[in-house]
Amino acid sequence: MLRMVLLGPPGAGKGTQAARLGRRTGLPVLSTGQVLAEQIAAGTPLGEQARACVEHGELVPDELVIEMVRERLGDWDCADGFVLDGFPRTLAQAEALDRVLAERGERLDVVVELTIDESEVLARIRKRARSQHRRDDTEETARHRMQVFADRSGPLRDHYRRQGLLTAVDGSGSRDAVSARVDAALAELTSRPGSDTGR
Ligand code: AMP
Repeated sequence: MLRMVLLGPPGAGKGTQAARLGRRTGLPVLSTGQVLAEQIAAGTPLGEQARACVEHGELVPDELVIEMVRERLGDWDCADGFVLDGFPRTLAQAEALDRVLAERGERLDVVVELTIDESEVLARIRKRARSQHRRDDTEETARHRMQVFADRSGPLRDHYRRQGLLTAVDGSGSRDAVSARVDAALAELTSRPGSDTGR
């Protein structure tokens, strides 16, 4: 049982670490950026509404992503926990998530923030732009997305710090090194007295 959020700037490795956690724990991973990209590629109404924002590195309106997450978390496979990647990104989203969970008598167990230097993020984004051809991975959009993150992350961090949920993990270095640090942070969480996140 683990209800977890991964926070961090674009290029911090949230997607990679979320996928690895999903494989290791069997928990479903919900990556809002990935779902939006799929919806855009498929030309669905949601995709059409999100397209311009995503391509310009702006946030998609809160209502759209909140509804998306609310629906997905209602699926049976999320009953025993989940890993959220790229959501929430605003305080309003975080508060909506708290409400969605509270309606079911649940709450988050942990929020892991992957921290990383801007220079390393830019290097990773350049590499990803070459290998994956993400349309929002141009240097300019990447810088803009980092700015959007910087503007929004303070209140989000404060919200989770107040709830005692925030754990910072060094996101620099190799994927394996970061995975090991994430594991160590989660192990420390599950060993706390009164924890019900033991698996
Ligand atoms: P990501 O793959 O997480 O970097 O997300 C790619 C893009 O999808 C972002 O730059 C936003 O345009 C959009 N997006 C993803 N998640 C959210 C969210 N929680 N709120 C608003 N927009 C989002």
